[in-house]
Amino acid sequence: MTQTLSQLEHNGAFIDRHIGPSAEQQAAMLQVTGARSLDELTARIVPVDIQLPAPAAIGDALTEHQALAELRAIASQNQRYKTYIGMGYTPVLTPPVILRNMLENPGWYTAYTPYQPEVSQGRLEALLNFQQVTIDLTGLDVASASLLDEATAAAEAMAMAKRISKLKEANKFFIADDVHPQTLDVMRTRAHTFGFELLVDKAEKAREHQELFGVLLQQVGTTGEVHDYRSLIADMKARKVVVSVAADFMALVMLDAPGKQGADIVFGSAQRFGVPMGYGGPHAAFFAARDEHKRSMPGRIIGVSRDAAGNTALRMAMQTREQHIRREKANSNICTSQVLLANIAGLYAVYHGPIGLKRIAARIHRLTAILAAGLMQSGMTLRHACWFDTLTVEVDDKSAVLGRALDFGVNLRTDIHQAVAVTLDETTTREDIARLFAILLGDNHGLDIDTLDEELLRATPSLPAALLRQDAILTHPVFNRYHSETEMMRYMHSLESKDLALNQAMIPLGSCTMKLNAAAEMIPITWPEFADLHPFCPANQAAGYLQMIGQLSQWLVQLTGYDALCMQPNSGAQGEYAGLLAIRRYHESRHEDQRHICLIPSSAHGTNPASAQMAGMSVVVVACDKQGNIDLHDLRLKSEAAGDALSCIMVTYPSTHGVYEETIREVCQIVHHYGGQVYLDGANMNAQVGITTPGYIGADVSHLNLHKTFCIPHGGGGPGMGPIGVKAHLAPFVPGHSVIQIDGVLTQQGAVSAAPFGSASILPISWMYIRMMGAEGLRKASQVAILNANYIATRLASAYPVLYTGQDGRVAHECILDIRPLKESTGISELDIAKRLIDYGFHAPTMSFPVAGTLMVEPTESESKVELDRFIDAMLAIRMEIDRVAAGEWPFEDNPLVNAPHTQMEIVGDWPHPYSREIAVFPAGSENKYWPTVKRLDDVFGDRNLFCACVPMSDYQ
Ligand SMILES: *Cc1c(COP(=O)(O)O)cnc(C)c1O
Repeated sequence: MTQTLSQLEHNGAFIDRHIGPSAEQQAAMLQVTGARSLDELTARIVPVDIQLPAPAAIGDALTEHQALAELRAIASQNQRYKTYIGMGYTPVLTPPVILRNMLENPGWYTAYTPYQPEVSQGRLEALLNFQQVTIDLTGLDVASASLLDEATAAAEAMAMAKRISKLKEANKFFIADDVHPQTLDVMRTRAHTFGFELLVDKAEKAREHQELFGVLLQQVGTTGEVHDYRSLIADMKARKVVVSVAADFMALVMLDAPGKQGADIVFGSAQRFGVPMGYGGPHAAFFAARDEHKRSMPGRIIGVSRDAAGNTALRMAMQTREQHIRREKANSNICTSQVLLANIAGLYAVYHGPIGLKRIAARIHRLTAILAAGLMQSGMTLRHACWFDTLTVEVDDKSAVLGRALDFGVNLRTDIHQAVAVTLDETTTREDIARLFAILLGDNHGLDIDTLDEELLRATPSLPAALLRQDAILTHPVFNRYHSETEMMRYMHSLESKDLALNQAMIPLGSCTMKLNAAAEMIPITWPEFADLHPFCPANQAAGYLQMIGQLSQWLVQLTGYDALCMQPNSGAQGEYAGLLAIRRYHESRHEDQRHICLIPSSAHGTNPASAQMAGMSVVVVACDKQGNIDLHDLRLKSEAAGDALSCIMVTYPSTHGVYEETIREVCQIVHHYGGQVYLDGANMNAQVGITTPGYIGADVSHLNLHKTFCIPHGGGGPGMGPIGVKAHLAPFVPGHSVIQIDGVLTQQGAVSAAPFGSASILPISWMYIRMMGAEGLRKASQVAILNANYIATRLASAYPVLYTGQDGRVAHECILDIRPLKESTGISELDIAKRLIDYGFHAPTMSFPVAGTLMVEPTESESKVELDRFIDAMLAIRMEIDRVAAGEWPFEDNPLVNAPHTQMEIVGDWPHPYSREIAVFPAGSENKYWPTVKRLDDVFGDRNLFCACVPMSDYQ
């Protein structure tokens, strides 16, 4: 016995699981980079004046099991009441086959946004299914996949209405007064910055208003009324007013499609197609429009194109509309959205098919009818005659009813004057209806469900035939083939195996931090204590959530050096928008409303200018010098020129060029000197955590991408969370919420998301990460991220020049490889290298951002030396292939690079190429081989022939 018990205990064990390279590997890599220790490496790379004097106070690490036990105890403080609150959120029955094979499956949740379509055909097909569901249910031509939530989708619909309106002078937007209150809240926020005048009134009143560019109606009002808006829509259309309709997927299964009734835009939440409420999210929003407006739509559209062999293949269409290219002229700032959740909703439709969905919708409606009949027989009054799943019931003694509800562990909707509302869903049972009778009528109601059901056969239906759907939905084969679990499991597996995710290889994407999403971090999100809560349930029922959110906020405050944290934005870009709004409101509070100029360096991520535009600011670009640093001279000129119109600067740190700019403190000082605020884009926090903080550097506000730095998986393009940290003076100006008010937690300001804490149910992932890493582990993670990047940069330098380095010749946590000289001399481009990496079994690095003709590599701390070496070897081998092209050994038009990637199909056919099949498909050997299922995509064809619905099965042959 040589070791004591405390020596044998290893509370920091998770740190070594999260960090890829072992101590020996780190030592070997340090040697290559010429540093003696991690501390020395960091001290040399990070500017001295921003290195933290003391570590963040967030405590020691716990093991996976300790942390899970601690979080379990917190989760158990949440109370799971049976919830009928509705308002756009209902309990669901997630099909277990989807839960296990998708939501809990790293093959799906660790994938990246499908920018590289050749390694993404599976999730692209799943998203295409989601679009097809949207098209069928809304009755419109084109659908996207997907938006962040219903309320932001409404705000996007309003912005799009302005873009497509022919009435250029009109500046008023009309909203029916029975849209969900959180939808109205988010729209008010957006309308204010866009300078639109909002009118909120009974829908029919829209006819009386002039100068409207758009109206927004909700097919099933927030209190449950199913509207017949056909004539109103026709009248509005006759006046060229753009009509948007909020709708509900489940109701749409039964109701006539608003698109068929003339609506231009139809959107809503896809939550009730199998996605748990999760105290507010994440859920996907669907969005559909007419074909003529497809180029004005917000968000991503998956399109059908063809590959180099002429076969059908899918891709993200019209990427040139995105903020990456159009910056402040982009249609929206949507980057990370809700891919995983859109996939779940799409697969829910695949699994149930049209017959199953109609049965589910009809059952919900039937239960509602039984509830309605019983209440009316008992003398109760329903507020509306036409309803689908929601009844608003007039009650005299509301407190007695609500008291009984609480006794039964039931939440009703309580915020309606002299009434309560009840929304039923697919989890509702006969017993639940009996309980609702007891709550609403008292114990002696004497109602019998079977009798009521029987009587309904002879009663007048609540929904007139004219409002019911007559057309067939989901006729495509994909919705009619996979209804047994075996078929469904295999379909999902077949999609998954087309894709390359972190469970097969590193995804070395610059700026996106594709690190480990540990199993222990993921496990809590499907605990019912977290999954089953309604976002508007009474705060005392969410005590566990509030404690978890409070702790996580405290830790993030420590790690960012700010004073307060706002957990509402559900993506990084939404965080930018929320942060800029806080700056705007702060200036307004000081009577400096004229401050509207937002300085943005030319190297910025495209969401920065797009968010600035959404916040009503004018973008002025600041130049970068030859080393890629912000040109201080230009910054001074632009700040001075802006004068008292200067609102802020948005700066990314370390810069998107992958270096710690030495002058960052000066940048902050200059902007402050001219009265501006500093927004520090926190997407690159993985190079700061434990080493420095935005607050210490001198910034006023930042968003954090919890789905980058803090381990929420990318989900194939979402979900994400983009909370913002702020200095104290901005804290009163961060988003609040009109439905939920919690003193000391939420401000009085307007909202930017539908739910008060955004996508709350994925926060346990970041909580677990921080708890298992502790202060020491987090600092080490940043240091190893820097080490890994420098190891790659050093070893690849002779083959590919590193574009930007810091003052001591090193990079931060990512590096930009300059492919332009090679392209100049050989014609082989960054695109060819990216696609050739697929043959070697890798996802491509980030291409041509932030500099055209480059590849940006961010290995993260989670990749071991073995994996880094495999990547480096692939890159060096590719360099040798390029040399063979340059030497004329392989013709420029026919070589493994320009033909990449190679599929199984092509190697079994004739082989006309001057290189062997082995070189084509096994350049790195046959071990752990990844097979792309399509060849290189034809982008131009796809955009010219935009088609974004499911492909007929015959086309796949
Ligand atoms: C990812 C990223 C963003 C946007 O974040 P999303 O969560 O995708 O909206 C903004 N800035 C930078 C530098 C990023 O890398």
